[in-house]
Formats: sequence, structure tokens, C-alpha cells
Amino acid sequence: MNAYVESVINRVREKYVSEPEFVQTVEEVLSSLSPVIDAHPEYVKADLLNRMTEPERMISFRVVWTDDNGEVHTNTGYRCQFNGAIGPYKGGLRFQKNVYPGIIKFLGFEQTFKNSLTGLPIGGAKGGSDFDPAGKSDAEIMRFCQSFMTALYRYIGPDIDVPAGDIGVGGREIGYLFGQYRRLKGVWENGVLTGKGTSYGGSLIRPEATGYGAIYYLNEVLAHEGESINGKTIAVSGFGNVAWGICKKAMQLGAKVVTLSGPDGYIYDPDGVSTEEKVNYMLEMRASGRNRVQDYADKFGAKFFPGEKPWGEKVDIIMPAAMQNDVNIDSAKKIIANNIKYYIEVANMPTTNDALELLRSTEGVIVAPSKAVNAGGVGVSALEMAQNSERLVWTEEEVDEHLGAMMRNIHKVSAEAAEEFGLGYDLVAGANIAGFKKVATAMLEQGIF
Ligand code: GLU
Repeated sequence: MNAYVESVINRVREKYVSEPEFVQTVEEVLSSLSPVIDAHPEYVKADLLNRMTEPERMISFRVVWTDDNGEVHTNTGYRCQFNGAIGPYKGGLRFQKNVYPGIIKFLGFEQTFKNSLTGLPIGGAKGGSDFDPAGKSDAEIMRFCQSFMTALYRYIGPDIDVPAGDIGVGGREIGYLFGQYRRLKGVWENGVLTGKGTSYGGSLIRPEATGYGAIYYLNEVLAHEGESINGKTIAVSGFGNVAWGICKKAMQLGAKVVTLSGPDGYIYDPDGVSTEEKVNYMLEMRASGRNRVQDYADKFGAKFFPGEKPWGEKVDIIMPAAMQNDVNIDSAKKIIANNIKYYIEVANMPTTNDALELLRSTEGVIVAPSKAVNAGGVGVSALEMAQNSERLVWTEEEVDEHLGAMMRNIHKVSAEAAEEFGLGYDLVAGANIAGFKKVATAMLEQGIF
């Protein structure tokens, strides 16, 4: 490994010892960049990697809200504006019990590279709170969102930082957040958030975009191998908005998603989540707030495996779409033992680094990295921003066409970047290198800070 790269990784390891997820993503990304740094001494001279691994700004704030019984609760809110070199900060908000600075920083760092890959002018950010939405009433969610935005609004804006959804933040939460922003500022700036409802500036296809984009990317990988998606079986984890988009598009293209998972276990449906009724039921399950996938098995007579993950199932394609570190070394060994060729990451950092290394070094396994595969979500968010600033609405077909073109391009630039450095068809290194180069160039041209 390049000595400068190694020194930056060591610095981050020491400094962020209490934030292991952040260290994990820095190790993964930077270890791909050795050949680029070897070829560009000017990056070392400008100390680019130490600068890129330090967030431009990390904001944390108190969020106080009252529950339906009049009891007062205090949470912490965060916004990490990681890198604004190529555009206004952009990235989702995650409301989940386990949120702490290490999660927000890892997501903000990943977002910087992902957003760069979209080819659109958006910088990287992430935010959220350790608020747990499970079991909260609609009125409690609203009061929490209003309090959260009351603290956040002074740091964001359509040309400053544009938050969106992530785990625990969907259309409903974005609505409450936007309403509070408008009340506080007294302006119609709907470009300040994406993932909005279509009645106030949301983009068509945004809810589907991450899942659709993932399938479009998968199509490129399959085409590279001379195969087609029709008839393939897919093991998916999660049952949220991303898994839903994957199921919908897979169904249209004749592939079968045979597993979904939740915190309670996973379901196996040999017929696939392949009818309108089943796909729509996923939305109901999510909206119920129960956070249980067993409900699917009960309703459709599928098999349920309590407390397990779906990675031991024999399928053609694996798509982890739940959350970070969903696939560990034991799961990776099962995937390899089942001779599965396509390992397509969808959730942010779904694979532990040792599992990722094992999969990448196994002959016959193609690994596609989440920062490329799931970039269609934030990509369509950037299209939503464009529509808002133009004060018009694109048709479904227009958005979908842009999304398809974007995903084809992300695959192409990633494959080319790996090829340029003699790495062959290495989509993981390629995405890291391609995402890095644009941000690096912008930072160099903007001077030292
Ligand atoms: N949270 C999503 C992501 O991980 C979407 C972010 C956005 O649309 O800004 O990319």
C-alpha cells in the first residue's frame, strides 16, 4: 500500500477509535486509492486525503419533544456536512436508536463519493438522530420532526445543504420537516429537502429510485457477463423503501425476489415477491411501524426463519438492502459455498471489511459496491432539486430515463477507472477511484482549506 495512504488510515484509526463504522469506511475507500496516489504526487503535497477524511463541519444539537402523555424526552440530532467541494451538501437523515457520530460520519463520507459518482453537482452530508420511531404515534412523530427542524433550519438551504430521507425518515417525516422549515423561514424554498410529496414539489419516481437504480446497475453487470435478468432469483434483505423498489422493478423484468428480512428474521417465498398485492403489502408492513417481516409470511404462507439472515439461501443474486454490516464473514462463506456469482451491495456499507475482501478475492464472484449501486436514490434527489429550481415537474418517463442513463454511466465510469489502473473488472475499486477523482480535482482547484 502507498505509504501516504497508510499514514492517513492510521491517523483515522487512532483519532476515531470510538467510531468504528467511520474507520471501517475510510479503510475500505482509501485502500482502493493507492494506485491513484502513486500516480499523483500533487495529491500528497496538498495533503488531500487527511483533508478528505475530516468532515468540513459536524453539527450536533438537542431535540426535545413531548409524547402523547405529556412526558418530555430529549434526543440528540446531528448533521455532518462532510464535503462541499462539488456542490451543496446533500444526503439523508436517519432516525434510529443506534445513531451516534460514528454512524453519521461513515454515512457522510460514503455519501461524498456516491454523490460524486452520480455526475451531478452535489456534495456529501448525512444527519439524523438517536430518536427511535418504533411505536410512536403520528402526532409524536410530527412533534419530534418539528423540534428537529427548529434546531436544524439555520444550517440548511437549497444552496447550502439539502437533507432527505434514510432509515426511519420517509415521505411523512419529510412533510413535517418541510412544514416546519416553511413556518420558521416564511419562504417557499422547497428545494431545501428532497423526497417530498408530489403536491409540494416532490419528484415522480423518487420513492422507487434507489431500488430501480439498483436493478438498472445490476442489468449492466449482467450484460457485461452476457446474461439477462429474466428468470433470475434474488435474495434481498430489508423490507423498506429500497427493497420495495427492487421488488417492483425485478417483477417487471421477470426476476424473482425470494427473500426479505427484518429485525425479527427473514422470509422465503419461492414464488417471489412478484405480485402487485405482495409488493404493495410491503408498504403496509412498513407503515404499520411494527418493524416485523413475519407479517408477510403469515399473510402469504411463506416460510419464516426467526432470528436468521437470508444469506444461506441458494439464489442467483444477493442484494443486501437493509443496513450496515448485514453480511459478515460467516455469511460471505455461505454465499461462496453456494457458488453465487453476483454480490450486489445496496444498503450503505452492508458488508464487513473482512467479508468484502473475501468475496472480492474469490474467483467467480462479482462484487458491486453500494456507493455505486444505490446512487440512483440521491441522483433522483438531485433531479428533484433541478425541478424545484426550474419551478416545473418532469414526467415519470423523463425521470426514469435520466435514472437509467445515470446508472449506466456510473457502471461505465467505475469499470473504466479500474481498467485505467490495471485492476480489471473491479467495480469496488473503480467506484472509489472515479468518485474520488472529481472531488479531488475540485478541492485542488479551490485551494488549501
Ligand atoms: N439516504 C439516501 C442515500 O443514502 C438518499 C439521500 C438523498 O436523497 O439525499 O443516498
